[in-house]
Amino acid sequence: MIISPYFRPVEITGRNTSHDETGKFPTGTQTYWGIPFNCGDKYIYLNDGALKLNFDGVKANWLVFLHASETPEGIADNYGIYKNFKGSTQLMEQICDYIISYDDGSEVIVPIRSRMEINDMQNHWGQGAMLAKSHIRGKSFETATNDIYAGRKPDGSGWGNSQTRVHSEGSWGGEQWLYAFENPNPDKIITNIEIVKKNGNVFLFGVTAGDIKEHPLRYGRRQKALLELKGDKNNTFDLIDIDMGHIISVTPQAVYDNKSWENSPVEDYPGNADNKYIVEFDAHDDAMLYLVGDGVPYVPPKIAVKDIIKNNEIYINPAEIPVTLKVCDENGKPVPVKIHAHGTAGEYLPPRNRHRLPNPYWFEDYSTDYTRGKHWATYIDGTAEYLLPSGEVFFEILKGFEVKPLRCRVCVDPDMTEITIKLDRVIDWRSKGWVTADTHVHFLSPQTALLESEAEGVNVVNLLASQWGELFTNIGDFTGKGETINESGEHIVRVGTENRQHIMGHISLLGYDGNMILPLTTDGPSESAQGDPMELTLTQWAEQCRKQNGLVILPHFPNPRAENAAAIVSDLIDGVEVTKLGTNGISPYYLSDWYRYLNCGYHIAAVGGTDKMSAGTAIGEMRTYAKLDGPLTYQTWKEAVIAGKTFVTSGALIDMQIEGQGMGGTLNLSGGANLTVMWDVASVTILVTSVELVVNGDTRDSVSFDGLTGEKSGYFTVNLKDGESSWIALRVRGRLDGDGNHEVITAHTSAVFVIIDGKPIFNAPDAVTILDQIEGTTAYVKTLATKAQESQFKLALASLAGAHRALHNKMHAAGHFHNHSPEDMHSEHKH
Ligand SMILES: [Zn+2]
Ligand SMILES: [Zn+2]
Repeated sequence: MIISPYFRPVEITGRNTSHDETGKFPTGTQTYWGIPFNCGDKYIYLNDGALKLNFDGVKANWLVFLHASETPEGIADNYGIYKNFKGSTQLMEQICDYIISYDDGSEVIVPIRSRMEINDMQNHWGQGAMLAKSHIRGKSFETATNDIYAGRKPDGSGWGNSQTRVHSEGSWGGEQWLYAFENPNPDKIITNIEIVKKNGNVFLFGVTAGDIKEHPLRYGRRQKALLELKGDKNNTFDLIDIDMGHIISVTPQAVYDNKSWENSPVEDYPGNADNKYIVEFDAHDDAMLYLVGDGVPYVPPKIAVKDIIKNNEIYINPAEIPVTLKVCDENGKPVPVKIHAHGTAGEYLPPRNRHRLPNPYWFEDYSTDYTRGKHWATYIDGTAEYLLPSGEVFFEILKGFEVKPLRCRVCVDPDMTEITIKLDRVIDWRSKGWVTADTHVHFLSPQTALLESEAEGVNVVNLLASQWGELFTNIGDFTGKGETINESGEHIVRVGTENRQHIMGHISLLGYDGNMILPLTTDGPSESAQGDPMELTLTQWAEQCRKQNGLVILPHFPNPRAENAAAIVSDLIDGVEVTKLGTNGISPYYLSDWYRYLNCGYHIAAVGGTDKMSAGTAIGEMRTYAKLDGPLTYQTWKEAVIAGKTFVTSGALIDMQIEGQGMGGTLNLSGGANLTVMWDVASVTILVTSVELVVNGDTRDSVSFDGLTGEKSGYFTVNLKDGESSWIALRVRGRLDGDGNHEVITAHTSAVFVIIDGKPIFNAPDAVTILDQIEGTTAYVKTLATKAQESQFKLALASLAGAHRALHNKMHAAGHFHNHSPEDMHSEHKH
């Protein structure tokens, strides 16, 4: 621990008690709160009379005593009730006097009272001292996950405490207490101190003289500085220390383009400054920061806090001006939004009741924060209380895919009390009947999910309870009926379940009525608990969900890639999440799998879900648009998805009409067909670069743009030959502003089926791959899956056999032959 240069331990003669073997009291040289103490090889204990201690000629502004008391207990009556109760430890019980003698013969009497100038070593929670500090100073630390990632042993506080990032002062047991006495005669030499017992016993371990002006144990408010630090970036708390103060956080500087902030890309990852960190600390006026780094000699190796404050190159104006922020829609009504703010040094500025250091880790925090790398934001309901620094503050506000993201700067001065920011809705597809949804969110409370959905412009959120080994989440939020709905009725949160098996796959059961469909997970780790049997297949879960009026979605399709094939060919799947975790686009890998099923005539909708499990994902950053007939309710939304009237998007909006049929529709024609595929595309958050026409999985045509925003319409033509039944969909590519030329698939429609002369859409080579998947799954259940009780085992196999038969028959009915694998249950047949 770093020692302040302003303190000198006092040499005391007259120590009267030897330490026992337990070693519970301090000996030798110790440092507490940056103050050094010489505790000697004996301590001073007084339980009777008086004791005189000689000092070695000391002059000082302050004397800091390291001591502790034994306060007599109050006496309760037979019922445990105290009269004139002073608490335990008894407040203001006079323990002793310290009589300080000077070389001119004068003296000062210092009364030492329990829970005031001194306190007991063992005391109950909430019995801290008013004028003395525990020898254990508070401390900030990293989250346990940060520690583990950096290869450190976690701080030891475990989950929960780890998220608080702060250890409290004191330990409620075995404490010594520091009392700083301001010497009224700093120019006189102190010759001795006499301890005179009053009502308690006293331990004195050391006394230290200090030469500073202000109270040695009172630190200032939180401050920030931008400092260059060298050393291990994973151990930032090791790069800097302070003698009289606390290092609160050491965060790599986020470098924003403040000069052209208004025109810089939205939610862009901020840049890195080499070795520059925002260091938050609180400090005594005379404190020093020590740049300790990795052993590289620093020039200077330490900086006085006083010098930092004077240096506006490195000092960051403290965030201390209370300001109410309002974000309003076109009509001046405060509306929920996602909001980011930072100061001139790139320091993140959250509302008062939001994290200054958002936690991005899995299941560690269900706060309403959002982290995109080092770019941090939070969700507010339209009004927020901030503490802001004087000077420029940079805001970024987002509200989904139809409202123009807004970046602005506000010059804050100490008289400012309110800031109002107005948003513009530039696209309005809601008025055309479209509603947005996230099919897949975890951990949030329904009410927090509702706030975030409003801020992200998501109408329907499906919060999914689940099991993760021995952990169960959102279980108490599941009702099997009803939703959490906002005032306008435009935002709905419904709790469903994600039922999971690690090989067979995951299945999301949305908005079903009645009892929770169990088990939530099956067949051992990591999704289920060790020793859990393989009780149910996805197909069986899906059947049960259908019976309970639910919607069945294959999440993060196609992974885990196994039994979902059986569930699809059993016609039990309403939609597939063709999204990919952690990216801003639709994965072609996921699409490749979905296209196989479309190619075999399974008309399954594309949906967007995020699988949000931390602040690192925003609700609806990949979302489903569904077109409703009539007003929005959870039921009408489900019906729209079942009908396949959907597209999935990370930003761009796309609609398609083919001869009067929209997504999810089927055209029945005879003979060949010349079709016009009309499209409308719209975007404010993504620069659209192309719209592609997909027929049976092949890209037939496309139209390119140079980063289109706003709304645009056009059409493609498709000629289908005699009997060429096909599916048609549209794919949209785009890029994020500031992301260079990095293109992603930002949107994809569900398909329109065109059936010519009644001939089913069927692609035999794809069907073979689907059969293989069902056969592989069956082999797993028969061989390796933890075997359930016989009756369950048989039913599980029967569900797979049923699926296999359905597709196999369809295949042979269509006149297609294939080589049967050894797993094939019909391998005795000859084809
Ligand atoms: Zn999952
Ligand atoms: Zn999930």
